[in-house]
Amino acid sequence: MMGAPNEVRVAPDVMIRLVRAMFARAGCSETEAACIAERLTGANLRGHDSHGVIRVPRYLEWAESGRQKIGQTVETVMENDVMAILDGNYGFGQTIGEQTVDIGLKKVKQHGLALTALRNSGHLGRIGDWAERAAEAGVASLHMVNVRGSLLVAPFGARERRMGTSPFCIGIPVEGQDPVVHDFATSTVAEGKALVALRGGKALPEGALIDADGALTSDPWPLYGDVPEGKAPMPYEGPGALTAFGGHKGSGLNFMMEMMAGALTGSGCAGGPGEPERRRFCNGMLSIYIDTEKFDGQDSMAEEIKSYIAFVKSARTADGHSEVLVPGENERRVMAERQAAGLPLAAAAWSDILGSARNLGFTEAELNALTAA
Ligand code: NAD
Repeated sequence: MMGAPNEVRVAPDVMIRLVRAMFARAGCSETEAACIAERLTGANLRGHDSHGVIRVPRYLEWAESGRQKIGQTVETVMENDVMAILDGNYGFGQTIGEQTVDIGLKKVKQHGLALTALRNSGHLGRIGDWAERAAEAGVASLHMVNVRGSLLVAPFGARERRMGTSPFCIGIPVEGQDPVVHDFATSTVAEGKALVALRGGKALPEGALIDADGALTSDPWPLYGDVPEGKAPMPYEGPGALTAFGGHKGSGLNFMMEMMAGALTGSGCAGGPGEPERRRFCNGMLSIYIDTEKFDGQDSMAEEIKSYIAFVKSARTADGHSEVLVPGENERRVMAERQAAGLPLAAAAWSDILGSARNLGFTEAELNALTAA
């Protein structure tokens, strides 16, 4: 393990081994522990540290408190040929998400079009995982996600929290090459990026947060406030908020995510008036699947996508840019680099993970064995 000062580099397979052992020790089956470890590490590999292993301490706290439950299977609330309303029963989103997408894929392969409406899921992590899983089956997909019980974002024109970070994701398979996947939070930055910055990682852009006085800032403190010694930082303790991306347009898209993934799925919106307690945390996800193989002109679709990618990338660059990227390209670049050089982690985030392992009862000898190259 090496890296810049205040940074460690951890090989992806070491990280998977450690996180997998930790979740197995916490009570997950080997399959579930592996799924959680691979997906969290996969987010780091693609450059989304916000949705990677930095979440390990928090997930473990949630499993212990029962806020997120180990070993769950999606329950079907309503089903017909082309749609399924599913209840995740607060299970780990890594496994609940996989089960949900697989139900959608089974239906779309028969009928060409399908929809899943998932309620009460534990944290679904990086939503691009679900679009990539669909794309591997030749399926284009769209995922609208809300976060009930997670008031983090101020709507456009406000300094108070009323919204979650509600990610939006669209993926389309491209024959013979990687899919095009656009996957982003509708806040200026995902909450986890503020967490990464708070733990000494990459700094946030100016205006990513608004403080209680209504001033825009890049400081993550207004989200977390002071973090008690030995506790994982919680983004509900600070007096400020994240901002929505793209002014009124991004704020409106975030609002619509609450409509589709919160109200329509039955999962519930981020919050409601007059509630003294926060709603129980969960992700809702409305997903639409389109089987591209059912369309005539398969070849022309692939050719059209490939030629459009080339056209977009041929645009003359703006000041400060050396290249035009298309959705998903950055993730692939980062993955190639990190597979070779290891995952960069702020030293504080790595020490939080090891601290959680010790809390689970791992000895120093066990930790040395798990983290050995
Ligand atoms: P981001 O701001 O890094 O944006 C990522 C998207 O922008 C990707 O599609 C990427 O390919 C594209 N992109 C990046 N650089 C580009 C460039 N130079 N040119 C063109 N396109 C470019 O992502 P984010 O908003 O920080 O979200 C991070 C992750 O957090 C996502 O995976 C999201 O699903 C996840 N998330 C999950 C939840 C949840 O509750 N489960 C909530 C919020 C966010």
